Amino acid sequence: MEKALLAAEAVEEREVVDLLRSLVRIPSHYPGPGEEGVVAFLEEYLRERGLHPFRQEVTPGRPNLMADLGEGEGGLILEGHTDVVTPGEEGLWRHPPYAGVVEGGRLYGRGACDMKGGLAALVGALLAVKRALGHLKRPLRLAALADEEGMMLGVKAFLKEGLARGFRGALVAEPEEMEICLWQKGALRLKLPFLGKMAHGAMPYAGENPIPKAARFILELEALQLELQETFSHPFLGPPYLTPTQVLASAGEGQLNVIPVQAEVVLDVRTVPGLDHGELVARIQALAEAEVEVLEDRPPVETPKEDPLVQAAEEALKLLGLPLRYGGVPGATDGTFLRAWAGLPVVVMGPGGKTLPHQVDEWVDLEEVVQAARVYAALAVLYLE
Ligand SMILES: [Zn+2]
Repeated sequence: MEKALLAAEAVEEREVVDLLRSLVRIPSHYPGPGEEGVVAFLEEYLRERGLHPFRQEVTPGRPNLMADLGEGEGGLILEGHTDVVTPGEEGLWRHPPYAGVVEGGRLYGRGACDMKGGLAALVGALLAVKRALGHLKRPLRLAALADEEGMMLGVKAFLKEGLARGFRGALVAEPEEMEICLWQKGALRLKLPFLGKMAHGAMPYAGENPIPKAARFILELEALQLELQETFSHPFLGPPYLTPTQVLASAGEGQLNVIPVQAEVVLDVRTVPGLDHGELVARIQALAEAEVEVLEDRPPVETPKEDPLVQAAEEALKLLGLPLRYGGVPGATDGTFLRAWAGLPVVVMGPGGKTLPHQVDEWVDLEEVVQAARVYAALAVLYLE
């Protein structure tokens, strides 16, 4: 208890705020400059403070960055991603997206909450533990990973190379208003081709039109969604969704009198624990009478409340006089794969508004970020000592 407080109190407000500002000022959207600039900065920053950061090249020019405090088995991974999404039309922002302007206690900019705020808090906590206690009985590993906003190549490479091996829990600092999030929705991206037979638009009887087939499927999908929502809605994640996000059918530009040979439907499916992905894909396939191509499969995950990591999160919040609130993550995060592939208990808990990510005028409350760093430092000590 005393050690946890000591670590929390060793968090330096100035240090965390300055780091966050520096991180936001380095654009890291992809495609675009990507993660390299942020990683190079952070690498130097950690080295100057006595740590020994190391890289993993995920794809050329897109590195993950790790840094360990202490060594041994049974440690904790502190995870954040270094990429951000595009700022979009910069003229729509009240402050330039990469200026790091602070106004009324809020820092504005792309990545402010998603998730350079959380990343700065993790680093601030790591440095505070180092200052206060040297190191802990078991190791802390900072993992600043690439491509969370894309196909999550960073965390996949991290796991494939065994960089989570020997660790027994992971804290993911995504912006969740400091709720303890133990549930994350699953996601499936599915492509369904509806096949037809090309023909003249004047003689539809001579061909087979795939467009009405696709349309019928989309309408039938609504009934399946309703059925699933009635069976599987989750108290923290809400209902599952089967959402068509793309419909393509054309025999080519200007070919208005030609029945195309194929119509293609893409679905963005969001699931909850208990809804089996394999069974769901089979049902959708049967409904469509089409061969489903699974473009991406991110299972829904949950961490039991009784896990020591969750207990440590609760205790850390209590120790600092902060409210205990539980929540769910509506999308997948790197934590999805840390849980699903490595079997690690995962707590997603970070500073920043849940709905602010990817918006224009994204911001984060600086006091909340510093508070988060204190919580992380205390949590790490409670969990590892
Ligand atoms: Zn994020």
